[in-house]
This record gives sequence, structure tokens and C-alpha cells, in this order.
Amino acid sequence: MIYDSLHTIGLYWLFLIPGLLLGGWAHIRLSHTYGKYSQVPVDSGMTGAQAAREILDRAGLADMPVEEVPGHLSDHYDPTKRALFLSSENFHGQSVAAVGVAAHEAGHALQHQAAYGLFNVRMALAPVSHFASMAYMGILFLGWFMHLLPIALWIIIATFSVITFFQLVTLPVEYDASSRAKEQLFRLGLVHEHERAGVSKVLDAAALTYVAALVTSILTLLYYITIARDSRR
Ligand SMILES: [Zn+2]
Repeated sequence: MIYDSLHTIGLYWLFLIPGLLLGGWAHIRLSHTYGKYSQVPVDSGMTGAQAAREILDRAGLADMPVEEVPGHLSDHYDPTKRALFLSSENFHGQSVAAVGVAAHEAGHALQHQAAYGLFNVRMALAPVSHFASMAYMGILFLGWFMHLLPIALWIIIATFSVITFFQLVTLPVEYDASSRAKEQLFRLGLVHEHERAGVSKVLDAAALTYVAALVTSILTLLYYITIARDSRR
């Protein structure tokens, strides 16, 4: 029995430490890269909001609002509101980082407009994944208070699989939004040749946090599957 619980704790760390390290490293790298390029002004003198506006206007999305939201790196495209939300530092920022992030969010709007397949899959999965996250948190919370029935472990595995699958679909959608962003920035002359590397570095660093999140989820899922299999013996 003691051996069993030690074995489970050992497994937990074995599966969790690589994800924790990768996640920590990805976040440090993003804050370093974003911090660096938010100090580098763009030659065009454009703010993130102006760059996003230009990309949307040129794509025939002149009626799509670009709004400011509070928070650090809280930038997102909302497909239900069909609106772009930029954090204050990227909305007003005239840096390589601000213009890069704003263009990435505009890239999501372009995916939506083009009915890009994986974007639609991700949008359809979003409420399902949200429900799975609530169910997963709920069952973990209950687990703190009572001994979980074996069936609970399989419910955890099922809900966590949905969450992991959602993250798997998110990854190519994020990379595609960045490549659309870069294409538009250079095509419209919003970013010049010597600024290209900076934009790529910021967007790659942001994408890496999604890679880390996916790896962490896959390892966590493997951890649950391993204990479920062990408990059947
Ligand atoms: Zn994105």
C-alpha cells in the first residue's frame, strides 16, 4: 500500500515535471522576447490598433470593431462578437511587438472570414471544451473530499481528453494566424524588411506557450491513463 502511493506520487512527478519546466521556460521566453520588442519602435510609427485596422479594412472587414481591453497580453479575437480586442499596451503601442500581436489577432479574423476549416472546428469545440473543463475541475474538487470511485477516474480521462483535443486543434490555428499576420504586415508595408525577424520572434514565442500547454496536457492525460490501468490490476 505504501509502495503503491509512493509509486503514484513518483509517477505524478515523472509526468508533470517536464510539462512544468517547458511551461515555465516558454513563459520566461515570451516575457523576455515581448519585453525586448515592445521597446523597439516600428518605422511606420503605427500603433497596434492602426495596424489591425489597416489589415481588416484591406480585407473588406471595415465594419469590424477594434477595441481596447484591460490586462497584460489579453489580446484576442472574439468570433461570436466578430470583434478584435487588444490590450492597452498593444492597442496604443507603436512597437514591433504591439504591431505583431495586433496583426496576429487580425489573422484570426481573416481565418474566420475565409472559413478556414480548423478555425471552424476550434470554434465549434470551444463550448464543449469549456464544459469539459468545468466538469473536470468539479470532479477533482470532489476528489479532495471523498474517495473517488474508479469510474470517476475514467470521467476525468474522458473530460481531459476533450480539453487536450481542443488544445491540439488550437495549435495549427495559432500558427496559421501568425503566418497570415506576417503576410499582411509585409504585403501592406506596415512592417519593413529589417523588422521581420522581430515580429517572427514575438509570434513564435507566443506560439510556444501553446505548445507547452499541449505537451503538459498530453503528459497529464498519460498520467491519468497509467493510474487507471494500474488500478485495474
Ligand atoms: Zn491567437
